[in-house]
Amino acid sequence: RKKIRRISTGVRALDELLGGGIETRAVTEVAGEFGSGKTQLCHQLAVMVQLPEERGGLGAKAIYIDTENTFRPERIMQIAKARGLDPDQALNNIFYARAYSSDHQMILVDQAKSIIRQHNVALLIVDSVIAHFRSEFPGRENLAERQQKLNKHVADLLRLADAYDVAVVITNQVMAQPDVFFGNPLRPAGGNILAHGATYRLWLRKSKENIRIAKIFDSPYHPEGEVSFRITEEGLVD
Ligand code: ATP
Ligand code: MG
Repeated sequence: RKKIRRISTGVRALDELLGGGIETRAVTEVAGEFGSGKTQLCHQLAVMVQLPEERGGLGAKAIYIDTENTFRPERIMQIAKARGLDPDQALNNIFYARAYSSDHQMILVDQAKSIIRQHNVALLIVDSVIAHFRSEFPGRENLAERQQKLNKHVADLLRLADAYDVAVVITNQVMAQPDVFFGNPLRPAGGNILAHGATYRLWLRKSKENIRIAKIFDSPYHPEGEVSFRITEEGLVD
């Protein structure tokens, strides 16, 4: 296997769950219900990747493809400051693009390649990978086409991750289903079908107040079991 690099999440328990952090040359899907912390984790990673290697980062930049208009520069600055980075510089190290449709989203991934060739980019985020596809291809009658397009999109992302030694993180909103949420990952409530083809699947769910619980699914390389973290002003913490 080619050499992989890792980006710390900034949460020790989560890093341990992930075997040291999120990997380059892989697509990590972050799934969970609304408010479970997917976007917060994306913001945190866009900062963490910038830290030097001895602090868990890769001293590199990030590309952030935002499909739901939930990117918050102030949040990046807050998290950066808490990690001892210059907030303005941290923001400048993130190439941001808003995707207005699923086609646009796929074009942006293509354009990301030239940015990666010109800059030291080690992380590409697509938050949410699935929202446009869901709204453009609603209902059962469009499910096959939606799934086909989405599969191609994720395959493109995997190729990019591997070719450029970049970590790709995609998010996927799924509805919570109290008992079987963690028991049946392929069929969450509401009939959502997850994007297939991601290398790893990290599942987040809400616990009380600002506590969130994470688990990895379907991975032969990762431990079973759950870890918890908190979402605070400073970002995600143990
Ligand atoms: P969706 O599926 O709707 O996109 P999500 O999984 O992306 O949801 P996030 O937006 O990452 O969810 O998480 C929102 C949660 O993060 C809120 O419940 C809020 O409590 C917490 N949060 C956001 N900003 C802060 C902050 N500055 N300080 C503390 N907690 C925060
Ligand atoms: Mg979100």
